[in-house]
Amino acid sequence: MRKLIIFMAMATILAVSSCGKKQPSATGTETVKTFIEQPTVEKITKALTDSLGEASVFRIERGVKQVAALWRESDGTSADFEKFCKDNFVADDAALETLYKKLERNFEIFRGYFHKMDVLLKEPIQITGPEIEPVDMMFGSYDASAHLDDDFFNNKIAFLTALNFPFYSLKEKTDKGATWSRRDWAYARMGDRFTTRIPADIILKASQTLTEADAYISDYNIFMGKLQNPEGKFLFPADMKLLSHWNLRDELKSNYTGENGLEKQKMIYSVMKHIIDQSIPQQVINKNEYVWNPLINKIYKDGKEAAVTPEPDTRYSVLLDNFHVMKSIDAYSPNFPTFISRAFEGGMEIPQEDVERLFTQFVSSPQVKEVAAYISKQLGRPLEPFDIWYNGFKSRGGVPEEQLTAMTSKKYPNPKAFEADMMNILVKLGWEKEKANSIASLITVDPARGSGHAWGAEMRNDVARLRTRIGENGMDYKGYNIAVHEFGHNVEQTVTMNDVDYYMLQGVPNTAFTEAVAFLFQKRDLELLGMPNADPNKDYMMALDNFWSCYEIMGVSLVDMKVWKWMYENPEATPAQLKDAVISAAKEVWNQYYAGIMGGKDEPILAIYSHMIDNPLYLSNYPMGHLIEFQVEQQVKGKPLAAEFDRMYTQGRLIPQQWMKGAVGSEISIEPTLNAAAEALKALK
Ligand SMILES: [Zn+2]
Repeated sequence: MRKLIIFMAMATILAVSSCGKKQPSATGTETVKTFIEQPTVEKITKALTDSLGEASVFRIERGVKQVAALWRESDGTSADFEKFCKDNFVADDAALETLYKKLERNFEIFRGYFHKMDVLLKEPIQITGPEIEPVDMMFGSYDASAHLDDDFFNNKIAFLTALNFPFYSLKEKTDKGATWSRRDWAYARMGDRFTTRIPADIILKASQTLTEADAYISDYNIFMGKLQNPEGKFLFPADMKLLSHWNLRDELKSNYTGENGLEKQKMIYSVMKHIIDQSIPQQVINKNEYVWNPLINKIYKDGKEAAVTPEPDTRYSVLLDNFHVMKSIDAYSPNFPTFISRAFEGGMEIPQEDVERLFTQFVSSPQVKEVAAYISKQLGRPLEPFDIWYNGFKSRGGVPEEQLTAMTSKKYPNPKAFEADMMNILVKLGWEKEKANSIASLITVDPARGSGHAWGAEMRNDVARLRTRIGENGMDYKGYNIAVHEFGHNVEQTVTMNDVDYYMLQGVPNTAFTEAVAFLFQKRDLELLGMPNADPNKDYMMALDNFWSCYEIMGVSLVDMKVWKWMYENPEATPAQLKDAVISAAKEVWNQYYAGIMGGKDEPILAIYSHMIDNPLYLSNYPMGHLIEFQVEQQVKGKPLAAEFDRMYTQGRLIPQQWMKGAVGSEISIEPTLNAAAEALKALK
């Protein structure tokens, strides 16, 4: 489930776009001066229009304006600027296409090989092996391509691109995109390439900060075998070690069945609350020296109580570091002047207000109460806050998890066994053998330190990486379930890299679309083990499962958005103040949309999600992914997954709403998910 990619967040930083004047930002501390004066811009625009004709006027106006906005004194005089524009503006259609192709080819070379370096340099901190040394962090957090854009400005490649390929705002793409040809879209994406000029030292700092946040989160384990209840009993296996919060949550989910399930769940939730409010003893993070009773928050060594040293708000200082480094980019991004607008309008390409509206409507829908009542009836008890993770909708055909683990660990004793089986998995999902083979040959499986992730290549014919956590006894069911999810990402990464007609259109509109594929795969995990679900209610169960996942993660995302708005309003906050703000935001969202449904007031549970800390504003992609996935799933229903996947995903990186219209015939909507839940409840009653 976890998709760490520092690159993702870096892409959001760099996916920012701007055209027009560079103005000092009101909130920024840096000011970026416009060196080329407006009369110069007008003069050169007129001269080019006079000589090339009205047909080119739009491109001339926008191109000259873009270059003027990016030009600094160090790039040359006004006369140099004028000469550059005159010499390099390409009016002829065929010549423009030649220029496009050369730029595209060369950008692929740069991105592809820098990515390869990055993958190799990060290996010691991402792949299992000897303990991480400071030198590994120094290399792993180094971004070799940090100076690339600076160089492209210095050698004028950036100006050449900006002069000839206009940037279109999200609104323009929305208004015009439907009538654009594939080539027009590719040109528009080329126009997104150089719209800001962020100094290399800031990009480097951002990369370092995100890598440190990732290391904090992916090395935060709780030794469950040391957890003791007030009666002195140990409820979890002695060797169980769980990563916060994904493994903790998954363990909580798996305890809806089995001995002492509810007590174990309550204990896990208690651990989570100590992580959220940082009362967790520092002595139990990543260490198994102390016995910990989380319900009363006491620790013991050799049977004797020891003094608790709480974690010193590290969680929130990591989040603050992310905020500060993202904010430092604001001054260089006049069109998207905050990280919030860069993440949504720039990165996701859906306005933040639209996302928030969609989520708010969803979590306050009448269906929530009805589904909650259904769950409560299934459980035979009133709901607890952690029932936002209720997983009883999963149709596992009643097979206990241990039995599934027995199957998966036998089938996949090590990463290479999974790798060898990828082609078969694809064939089971409907790909022709030959195509399955060519996709699988471009994916490689590595043993991950964290819970795993999928990392796509940046050039054609390079491999995408599936990182998965496999224990000494082979892949357990949970690990398998996650690996199938990540594999979905890898297949998307491979197909959209190699089968989309233009490199500039390679990929998906935003990360929600790759999550959609990952969920499509993950949902079929049992089928892939050869256990087709004979349950006639399967579709209804899946609809309710999707609905409930949306309800959970939309709440988490609403908290995430609130927290970022708060940080912008309180840029001088201390980690302790941020901690209070996060907890308040979590309680506020809880009290408004969950307390009446799930019981108790003031529960902080929505603040536990790790991506809130290590992957700035990434969370909203999950629920968007669920909505998109549901619409895509309905589209795929009754048809072979592979053919529909290929048709939809080879559209490449259009803007989200246009991609959806092309794929399923309508925009992103909560209605299909809500309606399907209502229908399912009716049928199950
Ligand atoms: Zn994912």
